[in-house]
Amino acid sequence: MHSTKDFSGIKRFEKKVFLATPTMHGEEREFIEDAFRTNWVTTAGHNIDEIEEMTAKLIGCKYAVGLTNGTAALHMATKLAGERLYGMPKPNEGTLKGKRVFCSDITFDASVNPVAYEDGEAVFIDTERDTWNMDPQALEAAFSLYPEVRLVIMAHLYGTPGRLDELKEICRRHGALFIEDAAESMGALYKGRQTGSFGDYNAVSFNGNKIITGSGGGMFLTDSKEDAERVRKWSTQSREAAPWYEHEEIGYNYRISNVVAGIIRGQLPHLKEHIARKKEIYERYREGFKELPVSMNPYDAEVSEPNFWLSCLLIDKEAMCSTVRGERSALYISEPGKTCPTEILEAMAEFNAEGRPIWKPMHAQPIYRMNSFIMADGNGRGRSNAYIDMGKARDVSSDIFERGLCLPSDIKMTEEEQDGVIEIVKRCFG
Ligand SMILES: *Cc1c(COP(=O)(O)O)cnc(C)c1O
Repeated sequence: MHSTKDFSGIKRFEKKVFLATPTMHGEEREFIEDAFRTNWVTTAGHNIDEIEEMTAKLIGCKYAVGLTNGTAALHMATKLAGERLYGMPKPNEGTLKGKRVFCSDITFDASVNPVAYEDGEAVFIDTERDTWNMDPQALEAAFSLYPEVRLVIMAHLYGTPGRLDELKEICRRHGALFIEDAAESMGALYKGRQTGSFGDYNAVSFNGNKIITGSGGGMFLTDSKEDAERVRKWSTQSREAAPWYEHEEIGYNYRISNVVAGIIRGQLPHLKEHIARKKEIYERYREGFKELPVSMNPYDAEVSEPNFWLSCLLIDKEAMCSTVRGERSALYISEPGKTCPTEILEAMAEFNAEGRPIWKPMHAQPIYRMNSFIMADGNGRGRSNAYIDMGKARDVSSDIFERGLCLPSDIKMTEEEQDGVIEIVKRCFG
């Protein structure tokens, strides 16, 4: 540790304080046992039917298809959009071949990789400061640069709904389809409606650290019966109704297991309770940090109610110490009264608490460095971000990446443990 701060008197956590781990309740086991007792342990069964119905009802979409994970759901959503927009592709080509797609910039790469699976080209849209999601102004600028684009994929970061009204209005005006990546935001509301119900196609995730988990799993959501049926077919190897294995289309092995669906079935009734606990954690951090030169990940309380999946911190510009991030490592100069995400993350790790940097923006990822990135002023460019020089960011995404971090947000964290984390952060500003 390079930190010169005073951590005297702070005790190492005996039990690791995690970012976010599964919180099981017991019912999950009964539904798994159900699957075993009835021998429905593969990709069909009552648990799957139940969670599809429960999720569709909860989110407010007509149809839900259970898949192996959120990434598969996003892939199916992206492929469907491509086919609806550009027709059936050649057998050896993706549906988005040669087409640009506007995508969120700060997100997990699973949001945008499906564009590449379908041979398309992601164009990244800068972030706005009020919700840390896709900036409607930058999206508008992107349409003026690339008016031919017909697909937008946006993620609700860390469980905070983005500016759905503005984004959807822009899509409507440009005749573009809208895919919502609600992998992190299950249960979050925008104007009283669930995220994951606003897109033409939507995805949620039941990955191990999400607010509801099945150890894995995901769900594709839509109001189109025909499209839901296509996804059912594609995700079970695109078998035609013939006595043998007849294939007219490329297939995938994406269907969820009835055992995994059993875990989700036991988890789903606890969503509200998980959100309430996550919100308490967020509020306690906000209270604990109120004297520090920091802010929490913001949301617009007038129109949205996040699920508070992860609590994040943003260090004020003036309170940032000197630091540089390379592609694999980071350096900083420990300064009195100032700090940076690396110093805080290292200090937390030293005391056995797990934080995480903000998702590194997609436009700064080595795999996407040739892709365009659009800011609100209409600046579009392919950037080669060999390294990020902290404090000099011109775009909002890089600025949030440089100054922000995710805090331990595990539902099972005790108040004492959280107070310990708060104290460590405070000392970093010492
Ligand atoms: C977790 C996540 C995914 C992928 O979900 P998996 O179930 O892990 O495949 C996609 N997008 C975002 C924003 C995520 O956080």
